[in-house]
Amino acid sequence: MDSPEPIHFVDLAAQQRRLRVRIADAIERVLEHGHFIMGPEVLALEERLARFCGARYAVSCSSGSDALLLTLMALGIHRGDAVFVPTFTFAATAEAAALTGATPIFVDVHPDTYNISTTSLISAVELAKSLGLRPRVVVPVDLFGQPANYEALRAVAEASQLQIVADAAQSFGATINGRMVGTFGDATVTSFFPTKPLGCYGDGGAVFTDDPELASVLRSLRMHGQGSNKYDNVRIGVNARLDTLQAAILLAKLEILQWELEQRRTVAAGYDAALQTTCSTPRQPSGYNSVWAQYTIQVEERDRVVNSLTQRGIPTAVYYPRPLHLQPAYMSLPQAPDGLHVSERLSQRVLSLPMHPYLSRAAQAKVIGAVIATVTS
Ligand SMILES: *Cc1c(COP(=O)(O)O)cnc(C)c1O
Repeated sequence: MDSPEPIHFVDLAAQQRRLRVRIADAIERVLEHGHFIMGPEVLALEERLARFCGARYAVSCSSGSDALLLTLMALGIHRGDAVFVPTFTFAATAEAAALTGATPIFVDVHPDTYNISTTSLISAVELAKSLGLRPRVVVPVDLFGQPANYEALRAVAEASQLQIVADAAQSFGATINGRMVGTFGDATVTSFFPTKPLGCYGDGGAVFTDDPELASVLRSLRMHGQGSNKYDNVRIGVNARLDTLQAAILLAKLEILQWELEQRRTVAAGYDAALQTTCSTPRQPSGYNSVWAQYTIQVEERDRVVNSLTQRGIPTAVYYPRPLHLQPAYMSLPQAPDGLHVSERLSQRVLSLPMHPYLSRAAQAKVIGAVIATVTS
């Protein structure tokens, strides 16, 4: 059963071998027409992305982080506002809120899904009010590719007059009861960082919304706050466009995304079946369909497990070893009053296994064998 090939945590080279000719042709076309900024591929991509997920508008931009920032700017978030974010996430989620001058408030996550806890959120909203802050936005993260509980979040958001900006950097293509990520928030942001489920060959991102006014403000903000033309500045914006070359690459990759997501789901099902009796495997509520940006188990004695797997040729990663409220840059910010214990515990226990659409059965069998041997030794 041993795979002779080295096992990759993510295998972008295998994808590139499959798409090499199509991507080279796409790049060649951009070199021919020469519209490197806001060329025809950018508009074509936005239309395809919107159609793919069922959102009315897709506005592309320079990264997932900029997508978050642009969206909060477009919603008019500023000093004195509270933006609720899970602490168990990548720094960009809280960073964007802080950059607008608003106060990020850290919220705990649910122990089963690792996504934002509505109980913790409700107590954080009360805390914000007691601090004299205006509760404005919640940024749920679809961690590891599994959508947050938007139905429960919508109820809390309505009761507290919050807007939902979904951080779907890891979850583009995921569904809840057949409905796609991109349609659950007032706005949804995603990232095309190379290792995300849909990645380009550099930085890129997008915002999805059904709100025509929001889409139009986003388009203006990503181009220095432009009005009717380039030299008409109606608001203070930034330079946050997606390059035409990256759009061309994404158009080629989008054509095989649905197939790749099926492969990821097959790999995840293989891990579930083989590992659920020996370790703590991911839980998906019924109706939820993750895109498995990561396949993350929980283990005791993680350092020992990582070392043993490394010795057996199995690469792993830890997302995230430290929750944001324990990071130097963020530790003075407010935290949900009931504590952030689930996030703290998860950060000690999580371990992500090799996961990509090109993981062969033989390679996966080797990973599974090594994990079982390690955790039961
Ligand atoms: C990757 C990621 C981002 C940032 O995306 P970039 O394109 O790298 O800027 C934001 N939030 C989460 C949860 C992410 O995983």
